Amino acid sequence: MKFASSSLLALAALATSSHAFTPVPIGHRLFVTPSSSLSLRMSTEVTDETKKATKKEKRLQYMKSPSFYRQGFKDVRPAVEKSMEDQFKSSLVDELKSSNFVIEKDGVKVHLAKDFGFCWGVERSIALAYEAVEHFPGKTVHITNELIHNPEVNDRLHEMNVQFIEKLGEGKKDFSKVGEGDVVILPAFGASFEEMSLLNSKNVDVVDTTCPWVSKVWNTVDTHQRKGLTSVIHGKYGHEETVATTSFCEDYICVKDIKEAEMVADYIVNGGDKEKFLKYFEKAVSEGFDPDTMLNKVGLANQTTMYKKETRAIGQLMQKAMMKKFGPVEAKDHYLEFDTICDATQERQDAIHELVENADSLGLDFILVVGGWDSSNTAHLLEIPQKAGIRSFHINKASCIGADNTITHRTIKGDIVTEKFLEDMDKKVVMGVTSGASTPDKAVQDSLSQIFLLKKVHSGSDE
Ligand code: SF4
Repeated sequence: MKFASSSLLALAALATSSHAFTPVPIGHRLFVTPSSSLSLRMSTEVTDETKKATKKEKRLQYMKSPSFYRQGFKDVRPAVEKSMEDQFKSSLVDELKSSNFVIEKDGVKVHLAKDFGFCWGVERSIALAYEAVEHFPGKTVHITNELIHNPEVNDRLHEMNVQFIEKLGEGKKDFSKVGEGDVVILPAFGASFEEMSLLNSKNVDVVDTTCPWVSKVWNTVDTHQRKGLTSVIHGKYGHEETVATTSFCEDYICVKDIKEAEMVADYIVNGGDKEKFLKYFEKAVSEGFDPDTMLNKVGLANQTTMYKKETRAIGQLMQKAMMKKFGPVEAKDHYLEFDTICDATQERQDAIHELVENADSLGLDFILVVGGWDSSNTAHLLEIPQKAGIRSFHINKASCIGADNTITHRTIKGDIVTEKFLEDMDKKVVMGVTSGASTPDKAVQDSLSQIFLLKKVHSGSDE
């Protein structure tokens, strides 16, 4: 055990001390009264350090259990590979890739972003989940959440008779239907520490499909906690991935965008109305959060699918705030940052940036973004053309494009709206297309086919 020796040292220090020691809980941190000696303070820090390390230690312990599976099941792999290919592959997207990401068909010219669609973390998660279902025939298989934010994949899991654990609201779920000997799949964005502990206490097989990039963020917040830093998490506090990440923290605050990060930076530098601050961040902070003491040392982490430029800007904001408060020399002891934006998110954002930058020269009428409406990384892809003032739509499936030339799409504010789609049926349509990291190529193909058909029917073209 990594911390056994330091724990023993701490206990020994406490046992041999003759000083009065009164730990005063403030929030859930321990502060030592001024009468404590240096050695006692050190021992308290060690005890605190031990406490802070416990969640990661426990998570690693759970993962070592023989009923915890992370590597999939080779016996069923070939069959699963074949089924995934049949379900997700697209000949149209293959054609686009082999023709320099451009095709023209039925009066529609399509420019495909250079990076798009399924990331390896999602493909891996689906493969592990499908393999689990095949490997445990006859067993009841549950999943703690949607595997990924994609309607087709989740429908397929329903067809395979996978039971989705019911959400009870406020982040709680009903695990009562999980019985002894069942199998439980953890989705790509992971499961909270509490869920992992609960499953560990039940006699079940756990198949963990958590993306390694998400675990990397968990390791990052663990480092913050060990170093006595508060994690500032760029993410939506209610998103499953962020819920899991915060469950591995002791002290944290979630900021969903630069505006909220500015509020935190302002509090770091100038202080402020604590009550008002805590009211605003009520659901986004750890229990007992005290901005007066817990924002003195912070580390940055993020939900892996956030807009990377915004995460960087938030990092710079925090750094500047620490420089203002503690001076340029001391600032480095008050702020810590690791790059935890996953490559897949970054590459897809860069690729749509490229489309946006070339929109005029390509003559794009609009950009179509395909992906689940709950998918955070897909929503961020939409923000890039929207911010550049380019007509753009986020649809979750082909049926969003109506035969009456309407499109039902999700706006950046999250509203689902329907409007007229193609503006001039007599003119050639030139469009850009991309898809989120949880979107199969087949969904892009189906959406494009719908547009080809729409244009063909309405323009009466026989091309
Ligand atoms: S988007 Fe990134 S973090 Fe999310 S599943 Fe894919 S590779 Fe993993």
